[in-house]
Amino acid sequence: MPRVFSGIQPTGDPHIGNYFGAMKNYVKLGDQLGKNSIYCVVDLHAPTNPSAYDPKFLAQRTFEMAVANMAAGLDPEKVIFFVQSHVPEHTQLAWLFTVITPVGELERMTQYKDKAGKLESTPAGLLMYPVLQAADILLYKADTVPVGEDQVQHIELTREIARKFNHAFGDMFPEPKAVLEKDALRIPGLDGSGKMSKSKGEATTIGILEPLDSIWQKLRVAPTDPARVRRTDPGDPDKCLIGDYHKLFSDLPTLETVYTGCRTAGIGCVDCKKLLLGSMTQELAPIQERAAALRADPDFVRDALVQGAKEARAIAQPVFEEAREKVGFLK
Ligand code: SF4
Repeated sequence: MPRVFSGIQPTGDPHIGNYFGAMKNYVKLGDQLGKNSIYCVVDLHAPTNPSAYDPKFLAQRTFEMAVANMAAGLDPEKVIFFVQSHVPEHTQLAWLFTVITPVGELERMTQYKDKAGKLESTPAGLLMYPVLQAADILLYKADTVPVGEDQVQHIELTREIARKFNHAFGDMFPEPKAVLEKDALRIPGLDGSGKMSKSKGEATTIGILEPLDSIWQKLRVAPTDPARVRRTDPGDPDKCLIGDYHKLFSDLPTLETVYTGCRTAGIGCVDCKKLLLGSMTQELAPIQERAAALRADPDFVRDALVQGAKEARAIAQPVFEEAREKVGFLK
């Protein structure tokens, strides 16, 4: 049976791109693979990028990310779900990998170059980010890693690190393969361009835990097919952001209403957006209700994460011991 590992950034408030691209898939994989699906809120990665990290919010965002995933259906009893910094073997194994990873390999990582280029002084942790990521994955001997397109290069490096370690110290780690998440489909942001991303500003994203009236305020002013200048002009939902969102959220009868209504100018864009809000409400309201219940019982969430860390360590400790022994440390 494959073993899947995925790291979840502690951004606190996932958007619908994260939801359709990754979170729903985690739930599905959990149903199929049970405890062989391992999900980790990767809080140790957060401080590597000083422009996005604030110590005041890290714990809260980590907690909120756990709440969001559990509310979206991730069941900690079915899968292994924990917080990275609760399992010290992640950083310990990362050190063993640091000593075999050439600096040049790390410096050519696109994400590193992008982020370092915006900083006056580059922390070494930013350079080491993919080494820690390799440790996250290989600590569980995971062979499958669902990732966005922007992480594929890091998984290639993880494979390289596994090869180097196996060659230097003896066979131990599998070479995991990246499986592209659906955000490769590029769920567009509210500005209509590219893919939904928090880095482009909150006004361009729709959070899965965002109040529905706030979502409506964003939909109301969202761009539509520019061909529909007047209410009587026909349009094309395939050239419209709102049409794209309908494809994610709406059932078949609603989609038929939208396609026919838009192409014949039978419905106006405001009506169409109201239909979308209805579909979004059906999908998101139950998640938001579950999130409210989880927030009201924070001990339940924390206990689940503590239990998850125990389950993770039951795998991680012997793997790290094996690596430690291979590298030659005194027992
Ligand atoms: Fe877009 Fe809907 Fe207006 Fe068509 S009717 S242009 S799909 S908002």
